[in-house]
Amino acid sequence: MQKKSLYSYSLLDLRQFLEENDKSKFVADQIYNWIYRFYKFDPKDWLNVSQKIKDFITQECDLSLPKIIWNGKSTDGTRKFLLQMDDKTTVESVVIPAKNRLTLCLSSQVGCAIGCTFCHTGTMGLTRHLGAHEVVGQFLSVANWMIQEVSPDLKITNMVYMGQGEPLHNFENMKKATQVFMEDKGLAFGQRRITLSTSGLVPQIEKLNDFPPVNIAISLHAAHDDIRTELMPINKVYDLKRLFEAIKKIPLKAHRRITYEYLLIKDVNDRAQDIEALCTLINSRESKINLIPFNEYPDSKFRRPSDKVITWFQDQLYLKGYVCTVRATKGQDILAACGQLKSEYQKLNLWDQKKVIESESFIGAF
Ligand code: SAH
Ligand code: SF4
Repeated sequence: MQKKSLYSYSLLDLRQFLEENDKSKFVADQIYNWIYRFYKFDPKDWLNVSQKIKDFITQECDLSLPKIIWNGKSTDGTRKFLLQMDDKTTVESVVIPAKNRLTLCLSSQVGCAIGCTFCHTGTMGLTRHLGAHEVVGQFLSVANWMIQEVSPDLKITNMVYMGQGEPLHNFENMKKATQVFMEDKGLAFGQRRITLSTSGLVPQIEKLNDFPPVNIAISLHAAHDDIRTELMPINKVYDLKRLFEAIKKIPLKAHRRITYEYLLIKDVNDRAQDIEALCTLINSRESKINLIPFNEYPDSKFRRPSDKVITWFQDQLYLKGYVCTVRATKGQDILAACGQLKSEYQKLNLWDQKKVIESESFIGAF
């Protein structure tokens, strides 16, 4: 039987697991400390843990982490990692430096089933969900690499679930991974430092009261149903009306807002009538708009608007009272920007692995 990964245990699970096996449940706290505070993944290094428990954990649990098989640094400091899982599938994680923060963009699936027409990942189809331990493992592998290779003081301060995949399609595993990230005795990520971005899976949005209370970002991208359907086939199943009915039910703490991500694509959704429709659809008091200028990639069929149009679009929303930011494009030279993640390095000559990820079609995925 395959061993269960140690990184899929929340602290409570680990205490329970030890107790069920006649071990002191408090050792779970020490183990958590070694792994998530000191990045010590080899039981040999757990100084205050007895040999008996170390042997037990080694025998019962898988302690392997995703392997970093390639990494590349952009001229703007963004670094992309290609991580290989046990079954040889690969995903990407991106570390993005900014003034007072270091953000890790994590993948939730190998590929994605949603098939948005503007997204490089979307063209891959879905290979499989990532397990909770693989999501936690991405963090541990990348954070540890940064400490070893860049600086021992480096600390990832923020996390966004905006890499490959639709996090709400992989609800239970992302929930478990988030619980691990937020555990006080471990990484202790505050809920405001984690952002989950979703394309709008209505049944799972309706279940968000059963998910840790992280920031929610909705990939809206169009305020007209026909344009949204052209960009995001999921809109055929869950249109704007259904999406907003579900969003209204998201539990929001006082003073918190939903972020709406709005991709700006030349001549598709960057016109005056799009601003009007957007203002009718979303309320300026409870929302933030994050404009994402389209990132082009090899063979992409859409184009990015000019900087003048991007600024004009933002100014109009600002004048109407919206909190509206433009997402800085980071890591474009290594295809690490939003929507450019595809694990397809042969074309870029960055990586010589032969295997191209096999993909399924998105039909039947939701
Ligand atoms: N699947 C989730 C999260 C991952 S995508 C979602 O769709 O929300 C993270 C963000 O990148 C989304 O807002 C997505 O629409 C955006 N994105 C995808 N392709 C892009 C591209 N080519 N240029 C800019 N942003 C893109
Ligand atoms: Fe999947 Fe998000 Fe890309 Fe759409 S934008 S295909 S939901 S990763």
